[in-house]
Amino acid sequence: MPIYEYKCNDCDKDFETLVMGSTKPECPSCDSKDLSRLMSACGFISKSSGPGGQTQVTSSAGSSGCSGCASSNCGSCGVG
Ligand SMILES: [Zn+2]
Repeated sequence: MPIYEYKCNDCDKDFETLVMGSTKPECPSCDSKDLSRLMSACGFISKSSGPGGQTQVTSSAGSSGCSGCASSNCGSCGVG
């Protein structure tokens, strides 16, 4: 499941949400759709660890874990 982290441009709230297909997320706090997508740790890992095989992501992930992810949902990482 793709989990993305967003920051609301209206109320500055940051949150994580599942994004399915063309679903447009909105701020859980103020319902705004004026959001900035943040680069979460897991999203970055799954993107960069493709063709190269080994990346430096492993070391950073080992030290900081997946704090960028939703705490209860790190299934999209593919790490570990
Ligand atoms: Zn908001």
